[in-house]
Amino acid sequence: MLRVMHTSSSLLLLRNATVYAPESLGVLDLLIGGGRLLWMGPRLDGLPSALGAEVLDLDGRIVIPGLIDGHAHLTGGGGEAGPDTRVPPPFLSQYTLAGVTSVVGVLGTDDVTRTTGELVVTARGLIAEGLSAWCHTGGYHLPPVTLTGSVRSDITHVDRIIGVGELALSDHRSSQPTVQELLRVAADAHVGGLMTGKAGIVHLHLGDGARGLELVREALATSELPPRVFNPTHVNRRRGLFTEALALARGGSWVDITAFPVGPEEDAWSAADALAQYLASDAPAGRVTVSSDGGGCLPVFDAEGRVEQMGVGDAGALLATVRELVARGLPLAQVLPAFTSNVADLLRLSGKGRVAVGGDADLVVLDAALGVAHVIARGVWHVRHGQAVRRGLFEPR
Ligand SMILES: [Zn+2]
Repeated sequence: MLRVMHTSSSLLLLRNATVYAPESLGVLDLLIGGGRLLWMGPRLDGLPSALGAEVLDLDGRIVIPGLIDGHAHLTGGGGEAGPDTRVPPPFLSQYTLAGVTSVVGVLGTDDVTRTTGELVVTARGLIAEGLSAWCHTGGYHLPPVTLTGSVRSDITHVDRIIGVGELALSDHRSSQPTVQELLRVAADAHVGGLMTGKAGIVHLHLGDGARGLELVREALATSELPPRVFNPTHVNRRRGLFTEALALARGGSWVDITAFPVGPEEDAWSAADALAQYLASDAPAGRVTVSSDGGGCLPVFDAEGRVEQMGVGDAGALLATVRELVARGLPLAQVLPAFTSNVADLLRLSGKGRVAVGGDADLVVLDAALGVAHVIARGVWHVRHGQAVRRGLFEPR
């Protein structure tokens, strides 16, 4: 059997990298070894040749932290229009070619044929292939599906599980939870987080329903739980919902924008529109993230709740959103945190989301058009010159 080998032990010196960490640090040399960034500075000379370091001159190309996709259907999502609409699991290179080096998996509508165990083992498979991966327990529904019997126990005992979700609110596919039911799940996540140092959040799928974030506001008003525990996603799917999300972020919650395609007639904001508005507002710049919903299906429902159209979320939408905002004149250093450091801070992923000495060597080298040129995940080459040099075991070559 052919196994993909990973060699993070050899040294790699990247010369003349224009580093966005995500803040702009100027042109630096980066020394990578053992899967981590060992040294970063203006010029590294005199590296003994006995170390056998690979040296690559980036000629001023931009280096950014590997993107963290905080909402991806690692096992494949979908299934809401019949068994033939279950989306297959994305392959390794579908992440790496998009500049994503860390993913957090979720179950969605289908938390019946898809299981938490499958999600955990899929995350572990991606780690074996060189990515970094975590997941949430539960899914759209209540009581939440779990691996060990409770949300609190899953977060406490299972290394990969960092929170619960995507729990559906204001959606015809939800369990129509009451505020008490939401509080019970959120409290379990919070305590699981306290016991482990993990994120301990309830990641909330928001649907198109007019109630919007009403239940979250009620939960915050009637409990002692800190605002960061409640983390709504898809907040740009309806313009009114996005206004509510800005207010929630001002109150201390992190809100997640989804990079799904938005048509001109839709009452939604594209991820670029939403992030630009967020950054121009007085909401805290550190409390916004963007995720792809990759591997999930993107159904368009008619008034009767029947699926009219079906698309699949794609991690490539993340960097496309970055490019669109930079093309509009926003500084790269202002746009990047929502895809990197903010996600790491919310999810308490130490060593991730930043180009920092001692942190994991998860790096993306961009080409002149801000596309992916090279990707290094945990110190290992995954993409070179826009081509995947590592693929999953069962991935077509
Ligand atoms: Zn969702």
